[in-house]
Amino acid sequence: MNLVFMGIQGSGKGLQAELLAKRYGFEHFDLGSELRERVKKDTPFGRMVETYIKDGNLVPDEEIIAFINKKIDDNIKGLVLDGFPRTIAQAKFIVDKIPVKHIVYFSLDDQTATNRLASRRICSQCKTGYNLLVKPPKVPNVCDVCGGKVVIRHDDHAPAIKRRISKFHELTEPIIDFFKEGDKLITINAAQSPEMIHKELVGKLKLTS
Ligand SMILES: [Zn+2]
Repeated sequence: MNLVFMGIQGSGKGLQAELLAKRYGFEHFDLGSELRERVKKDTPFGRMVETYIKDGNLVPDEEIIAFINKKIDDNIKGLVLDGFPRTIAQAKFIVDKIPVKHIVYFSLDDQTATNRLASRRICSQCKTGYNLLVKPPKVPNVCDVCGGKVVIRHDDHAPAIKRRISKFHELTEPIIDFFKEGDKLITINAAQSPEMIHKELVGKLKLTS
C-alpha cells in the first residue's frame, strides 16, 4: 500500500508518517530530509539542491522525479511519500508510475501552521527535533540527548516560513484539487493532537491494530 501525505508545513504529516512506519512497517520517504542529507554530503546533486532550498525555493521537477524514480525502484513494501508531490507535474508522475492507494491530506489553517513552525527547534549536534509548544528541551536551548546547542533551523525563520506557506497555496493546493478528481483523497483534521490525528488516520485507512 503506497500512500501520499500532503499538507501545509506544520501539519504534522512527517510525524504521522513515522508513526505509520513504526506501527505498520511502511517505509517513510521524507523528501525534504532526503534532500538535506544529500546537501550535507556535498555531492554535485547536493550542491545543485542547495542552490534552490537555501532561499526557500523548490528543486526543479525533472531533478526530483529522477531522484524519486530510483527510490521507487529500490522499494519493496509500502511507501509513505511525504513532501512529494509539490507540483502538478510531479502529481501526474505519481498517477502514471506508482500504484497509490490513498492521498492523505492533513488540513490545517495558516495561523496554526505558522505558530507550530516558529516553535520548532533542532539540536545543532545530533539533529534531535524539538518544539517549544509540545516538546521543549528540559533545559532551555540544551539538547536532552547529547547536551548540544538547540537552535532554530535556517528555514524555520519567519521570512522563510512565510515563503513556504505562500508556496504551498500557490503550488500544492492545486494538486489536492487534482487528486480530488479521483476517489483516493482522504482528508484529516490536522489541528488535533498527534494522537487524535493518528487515530483518525488509522480509522480512515481501515488499518487493523
Ligand atoms: Zn543533541
